[in-house]
Amino acid sequence: MLNLILFGPPGAGKGTQSEKLIGAYGLKHISTGDLLRAERKAGTELGLQADAYISKGDLVPDEVVVGMVRNYMKDHSEASGFIFDGFPRTTPQAQALDALLAEFDTQIHLVLGLEVAEDELVKRLLLRGQSSGRVDDQDEDTIRNRFREYQNKTLPLQDYYQQKGAYRGVPGMGEIEVIFEALCAHVDAL
Ligand code: ADP
Repeated sequence: MLNLILFGPPGAGKGTQSEKLIGAYGLKHISTGDLLRAERKAGTELGLQADAYISKGDLVPDEVVVGMVRNYMKDHSEASGFIFDGFPRTTPQAQALDALLAEFDTQIHLVLGLEVAEDELVKRLLLRGQSSGRVDDQDEDTIRNRFREYQNKTLPLQDYYQQKGAYRGVPGMGEIEVIFEALCAHVDAL
C-alpha cells in the first residue's frame, strides 16, 4: 500500500493536486471536507451536526471525522493506497489514523505539505466562493477563523510527521503542473 497525506492550509490546492495524484498513482481519495459536504447535501443527522461547525469555520469534532474515515477505509479495503486530503487536522486525528492504518497492517509513507502565503490563500478562497457556493468561502471573517484553527490545531502536525521523517514541504505558488511535478518527485523517491 502507498498512503499519502496532502497537508496544508485552506486554499493551498490540496483538492486540485489530490485529483492529479490519484490519477497518477491509482490511489483512493479521502477528503473529509467532501465527505462532510456530501452528508450535508443528503441531509443526514451527521451532516446537520457538522454544518454548524463548517459554516463558522470551526473544525468538526474529532470523533465525527474519524468515524467517517474509518467507514470509508473499511468500504475500500481493496484499495492499493489512500490519499488523505484535509485529514488529519488535529493530533488526536493523527493518532487515530496511525491506529487505523495499523489495523490494515500499513502506515503513512509520506506527508506532502503545500506551502502558500496567507494573503494569497485569502484571495483564492474568496474567488472560489464566487463560483462554488461554499458557505465557508463567502466572507473574510470565516476564512480568517479557518486559518486560526489551522495555526492552532493543524500546524502542530507538521512537527508530528517531521519527527517520523515523513514530512516534505513543497512551494504551493505558481503553475499547477510544476507543483504537481514537485509532489511526484517526492513520491517517486520513496
Ligand atoms: P479547506 O481545506 O479549504 O478548508 P475542506 O473541504 O477540507 O476545506 O474543509 C472544510 C471544512 O470542513 C473545515 O473548515 C471544517 O469545518 C470541516 N472539516 C473538514 N475536514 C475536517 C477534519 N479532518 N476535522 C475537522 N473538521 C474538518
